Amino acid sequence: MTRTVYVNGDYLPEDEATVSIFDRGFVMADAVYEVVSVLEGKLLEFGGHLARLKRSLDALSIDNPLSDDEYLDAHRVLVEKNAITDGMVYLQVTRGNAGDRDFAYPPAGTRPTVVMYTQAKPGLADAPLAKTGLRVITVEDQRWARRDIKTVQLLYPSMAKMEAKARGADDAWLVEDGRVTEGTSNNAYIIKDGRIITRELSNDILHGITRASVLRLAREAQMQIEERSFTVAEAQAADEAFITSASAFVLPVIEIDGTAIGAGKPGQMAARLREIYLEESRKTGI
Ligand code: PLP
Repeated sequence: MTRTVYVNGDYLPEDEATVSIFDRGFVMADAVYEVVSVLEGKLLEFGGHLARLKRSLDALSIDNPLSDDEYLDAHRVLVEKNAITDGMVYLQVTRGNAGDRDFAYPPAGTRPTVVMYTQAKPGLADAPLAKTGLRVITVEDQRWARRDIKTVQLLYPSMAKMEAKARGADDAWLVEDGRVTEGTSNNAYIIKDGRIITRELSNDILHGITRASVLRLAREAQMQIEERSFTVAEAQAADEAFITSASAFVLPVIEIDGTAIGAGKPGQMAARLREIYLEESRKTGI
């Protein structure tokens, strides 16, 4: 089935959708994005993702071209047109077509480019990795210093993922000054003596929408949380480890750089957090 995608207000078959080669997103990675999961036909955490989109646009002084309702409507139309039960809606907003290649931003009034597309992922909530757990390696965090802005500059995370693959692992955790920042496309956590430890919010990490909800739900379940950075050695000595993201929800980590975490199998607290998060998502999806 040919996917229907969204480009600047139009719904088109994917092979008819085009963007200029002068688009700033293509030439300068001058673009931000969001990923909203679809579970059983419902959009998860839509409000959170929309709020972060606006924050990212603001941080880069890109005009927000659509209203909240227009974003929501486009998400719903794409889910319907592409018959998505479980999957994701990807959204990118670029600074638009500058006409010529130039480091200077295009003139005021240049219309940002908006594209959206779906990816089907049947059985999104039943990922096999939830049962087996992830093996991660650690690599130096060589990304730029504004990781709180969700830009499409994903080359370094992509390289880190390829290195993980080459070394027989599922993903990489990024490390700066000896301390874990986050995963290539997820936030990173360890659990020690019943306390959930995850890096505090700053420009060093993406402010995960799933992170915010999981921490809120953990607090409501009387779990203890410490928002601070941790070393790789501390992670390797933890009782449990896990990651969160919009499409992975909560997934356990069972190995870091070849060292088994805890009993070397998915931990109970991570499993419980996944359960609570999915339960809440099914209730609050729109
Ligand atoms: N950190 C990075 C670097 C990411 O790319 C992502 C998601 O893409 C996350 C964290 C998790 O964010 P969210 O929970 O909003 O998906």
